[in-house]
Amino acid sequence: MRAEGYLTSKSYDDADLVIVNTCGFIDAAVQESLDAIGEALNENGKVIVTGCLGTKDVVRETHPSVLAITGPHDTPAVMQAVHQHLPKPHDPYTDLIGVKLTPPHYAYLKISEGCNHRCTFCIIPSMRGDLVSRPIGEVMQEAENLVKAGVKELLVVSQDTSAYGVDMKYRTGFWGGKPLRTRMTELCGALGELGAWVRLHYVYPYPHVDEVIPLMAEGKILPYLDIPFQHASPRILKLMKRPAAAEKTLERIRAWRTECPDITIRSTFIAGFPGETEAEFQELLSFLEEAQLDRVGCFAYSPVEGATANALPDPVPEEVREERRARFMEVQAAISREKLRAKVGRTMDVLVDEVAGRKAVARSAADAPEIDGVVHVRGAPQGTRAGDKIRVRITGSNDHDLTATCAIDSARDSSTSA
Ligand code: SF4
Repeated sequence: MRAEGYLTSKSYDDADLVIVNTCGFIDAAVQESLDAIGEALNENGKVIVTGCLGTKDVVRETHPSVLAITGPHDTPAVMQAVHQHLPKPHDPYTDLIGVKLTPPHYAYLKISEGCNHRCTFCIIPSMRGDLVSRPIGEVMQEAENLVKAGVKELLVVSQDTSAYGVDMKYRTGFWGGKPLRTRMTELCGALGELGAWVRLHYVYPYPHVDEVIPLMAEGKILPYLDIPFQHASPRILKLMKRPAAAEKTLERIRAWRTECPDITIRSTFIAGFPGETEAEFQELLSFLEEAQLDRVGCFAYSPVEGATANALPDPVPEEVREERRARFMEVQAAISREKLRAKVGRTMDVLVDEVAGRKAVARSAADAPEIDGVVHVRGAPQGTRAGDKIRVRITGSNDHDLTATCAIDSARDSSTSA
């Protein structure tokens, strides 16, 4: 849109039109999306809806006056609706010079769409379909272009990153004239050559995930693994239709840490899944104590419309689900606090997100943008900019974030490579 001469605005009053990107993953997200559309209609009046919820009738039923509704991953349809209701302001070519096209210093790299699993609590496959991987040459070209344009961190995303290429039978593609298999390990190896930070998200716990740990240990990709385990009780995992060997999971975590001691493991869990007993929830807490994960999110089970888990017997009452989630987070908060405290005194490279004078907000290898903590840096070198890498010494910690001072005054790295 920027390339076509449109500008974005942070307030409804300044905008000629509002685009609302929606989520339909859980009922709370559906409600939040519908509320956001309602707010945009009240405050502005001209609203185009896009994203997952666009495939559901509920948007038109709740807000019949929206200008257009488009589905997920459908940029052309959004652009068509924008052109119809707010014609292009200028000639795209002549205006390019005046338009700020500088990308931010981190970028999401989508490698596939959809999912072949059928976890019983999830309706993503019904909204986004089965796994469709992007050709590896295309993904690599996009990654290379982003890095050339100044991106310092690539966040690999999908619904199921470790399944990359399954639908193509791991077909061999080409990048830079060289053959390259459409497979997560090979993709990570190639991305690791670009010189940017590479961070893996949504890695389903398949056995072959073990193959990327050496790449992390060698510093080719960030030692960061976002791997949703969802639960630890074999019976609940089976009801969820997830891999059920929690003991093996602990063994694998130990092996990953032996091979790559700096690895940051992020995971998500569901508390109060239908039929979960207090004993099974305790099993989950024991797993948490044992696993000592670095970053953890926990959702109280949400009976999203259309999920098969809703039909399971013995649903857990809402207040118990919430109470278990709170207990879970309390246990994790103590683990997280200790993990962060152990970093005090260490020296590490951080990527700067924001600068105000000599103070900076930055992230280390352990911190994904938006979802993890940050590093508050004092004494950043003069002229530090967002996207620079600086070396800092950690001086303090709390439950989520770290504080630091710049380790070496000349440690700023503003080159395009890491
Ligand atoms: S693997 Fe993830 S996206 Fe796929 S069905 Fe399970 S929870 Fe949903």
